[in-house]
Amino acid sequence: MSYQVEPVGFIRSCFKEKFAIPRQPSLAPAARGTLELVAPYDNGDAVQGLEQVSHVWLLFMFHQALDSSPRLKVRPPRLGGNRSMGVFATRATHRPNGIGQSVVRLEGVEPGRLRLSGIDLLDGTPVLDIKPYVPYADQVPHAVNRMADAPPALIPVQWEDAAIAAAHVHGERLGEPLVALVEQCLAQDPRPAYQVPAPERRYGARLWDLDVHWHYPEPGTIRVLAITLAVASA
Ligand code: SAM
Repeated sequence: MSYQVEPVGFIRSCFKEKFAIPRQPSLAPAARGTLELVAPYDNGDAVQGLEQVSHVWLLFMFHQALDSSPRLKVRPPRLGGNRSMGVFATRATHRPNGIGQSVVRLEGVEPGRLRLSGIDLLDGTPVLDIKPYVPYADQVPHAVNRMADAPPALIPVQWEDAAIAAAHVHGERLGEPLVALVEQCLAQDPRPAYQVPAPERRYGARLWDLDVHWHYPEPGTIRVLAITLAVASA
């Protein structure tokens, strides 16, 4: 038996590539974006009442991680990327039907558009459904997950002078909390845990229309080297 689903809209996100996206929502409150609804949901009727809600559940497709054959075991980055686990014990992107779910903050509601923050979603992500967060039902005060019992440990983020100056300029141009976004994403250390990088190795990720470069001058420290306008790909 198979079912067909159609997106109700698409995410426009600060995250233009998978690397450096937080592993769950709310870990980077400065991560902002919009959900652009498509017809017939781009009509104000579909979102009427949603302004009374602070957070929404988004059900979406991991459209850049779709598999042709089922995986029963996965290697979640949370466990260092080198230990495998049953797919249903994880929130891995490679999973049956490729469906993800995130609770995100609803910053604003317009006909055809929701403004969001705290997202962990790639630009272009197709959204299948939106549901209001219901605190009394969705909060589980004594819930336990012994594999993922706390948010990732944060490591300090340092800046080259030119990089922080560029971050301020571009943040103002974009109208976005760019310094906070870079710090919140990098402090969670996006690289796979099993990699021990040489100090000269440069890492990069694209946020908005910017390329962010950093390195690990010593274990447990990140230094932002440069923030430059991304060159549009051909
Ligand atoms: N909160 C969701 C969940 O539990 O279903 C997502 C968790 S998943 C571990 C988070 C990762 O998904 C992010 O770090 C990012 O790299 C990846 N991701 C986000 N949007 C994606 C997309 N559209 N396609 C593939 N991977 C995506």
